[in-house]
Amino acid sequence: MRGEIILKAKIISGKSLASDLREKMKNDIEELRKKEIIPGLAVILVGDDPASRTYVNAKIRACKETGIHSVIYERPADIREDELISLINQLNQEDTIHGILVQLPLPSHISELKIIETISPEKDVDGFHPINIGKMMIGQTGFLPCTPLGIIQLVKSKNIDLTGKHVVVIGRSNIVGKPVGQLFLKENATVTYCHSKTKDLINITRQADILIVAIGKAKIINKDYIKKGAIVIDVGVNRLSDGSLSGDVDFEQVSQIAGYITPVPGGVGPMTITMLLSNTLLAAKGKKIGCSREFD
Ligand code: NAP
Repeated sequence: MRGEIILKAKIISGKSLASDLREKMKNDIEELRKKEIIPGLAVILVGDDPASRTYVNAKIRACKETGIHSVIYERPADIREDELISLINQLNQEDTIHGILVQLPLPSHISELKIIETISPEKDVDGFHPINIGKMMIGQTGFLPCTPLGIIQLVKSKNIDLTGKHVVVIGRSNIVGKPVGQLFLKENATVTYCHSKTKDLINITRQADILIVAIGKAKIINKDYIKKGAIVIDVGVNRLSDGSLSGDVDFEQVSQIAGYITPVPGGVGPMTITMLLSNTLLAAKGKKIGCSREFD
């Protein structure tokens, strides 16, 4: 039929995996409630960036659906850094709050690092605190960042043995690219990082058994970048001029070559939020978190 894409790649649905995981979490949360522990998440939103608000609303909605108590703290864009720090310090002391999330980006007069460092590592359910990042690097237990954790769960859901697989990560941000490579390394994969200064990108990506794309440019990765049968994880979220969402991967083309592919929307996004819920639940349980193996 004209215009219809006949998929060759199998879809890895983040929406469906996230929904299964959230159902399981609901039972855990019910059990905790019987012990009079209600997992609590504080979300701080600074300013009125529409994208940030959309992400925060989605997180709050997900909390409500799974039975996590959430509180949103909205502050104006001109809030002083010390005021924000004092709010976080207050929440660090609050017993009903197990997780604290500050929606990024922050206005330029506020140091994001300073803010992240103020969150108690035990409540850092985003997994951005340098202590948690450091623990991840040396294989100690701590909170893992949500998007990388969601990505590894997506791949593992297909029962793919990661040992010796060549994982190529495009993007080296602190929240996606760098940590996701570390998680695959821990699973005995061989990891190559690429970024905007990488030479001959196409020749590197064509060697990937698993390609993780976290660039932030719509449809920049087409079929020429893909080895036949590769697993392609598209992290990018880009708003197109018609208002629709697109990943960094040209889904139409790449799904003809890849073995597995994640869609946008409905791929990595729902898993990111689900891992936030999962981290909040673990924080409430007061349990030490055992890196990705906790979720095997
Ligand atoms: P970022 O901090 O802007 O990093 C982008 C990375 O891509 C950088 O390392 C950059 O290289 C690299 N890059 C840019 N142009 C490139 C090119 N032409 N070729 C190769 N590499 C290139 O972005 P991010 O925070 O990691 O996010 C990436 C994307 O994922 C965005 O679309 C974001 O919205 C999305 N995202 C989605 C989720 C989710 O849950 N679905 C979560 C987080 C992020 P340099 O370092 O050399 O500049």
